[in-house]
Amino acid sequence: MNEAGSAEHGHDHPKHELSHYAKRIYAIRDLLIEKGVISEKDIQCQVEYQEARSPANGAKLVARAWVDTDFKGRLIADPKSSCAEMGIDATAINEFVVLENTEQVRHMVVCTLCSCYPRPILGRPPDWYKSFNYRQRAVVDPRGVMREFGLNLPDDVEVRVHDSTADIRYLVLPLRPKGTESWSEADLAKLVTRDSMIGVMDPLDTIPEIAPNTSTRNSPQLSFVVRGMCPLR
Ligand code: FE
Repeated sequence: MNEAGSAEHGHDHPKHELSHYAKRIYAIRDLLIEKGVISEKDIQCQVEYQEARSPANGAKLVARAWVDTDFKGRLIADPKSSCAEMGIDATAINEFVVLENTEQVRHMVVCTLCSCYPRPILGRPPDWYKSFNYRQRAVVDPRGVMREFGLNLPDDVEVRVHDSTADIRYLVLPLRPKGTESWSEADLAKLVTRDSMIGVMDPLDTIPEIAPNTSTRNSPQLSFVVRGMCPLR
């Protein structure tokens, strides 16, 4: 499918070389539109819906839990109701479990089978989460994986790995960074990264120049981890 061809039927296709599967997806999309099964607007609405579900939702929950002990209790006891309280629709998740990190116990989430992920809370999973390498290594050597993300845990801290399934999705409630006692909830939310809610990293301790949860793609600084961990790339 070339660039000139794509312009003829009303929408743009990516200008770089497409993989076999990408070409097939675009061809199916064009056919579905041509046959009147779906419209351009349906696709755009779905894209906007998917993009609206981002790690910013999870960051809101975590920041509220950090400043409000009662909310934290409710979030752990009944996560879906607490999401509704914050205006986040988590009804698509069958069972939703919030795992609270402590100084003694750290939680890390993986889906060893595929890529089960709390999408209403964190958006689309990053590429590395779906890679065979992460799925395999997270259960065999979670501390080694954490080290590659820059998190070095002392030996006396227990690491618990949780395997997501179609039925159960997890969110890690990371530890509040020290020295943030006087911070506002809005500023605290800026410290909560997607990866800290998967459990492979700690939250930030200073507000970054570029907000952490504005993209569902891999962070550029983590590209070495992705390349190292995913044999398919
Ligand atoms: Fe899965």
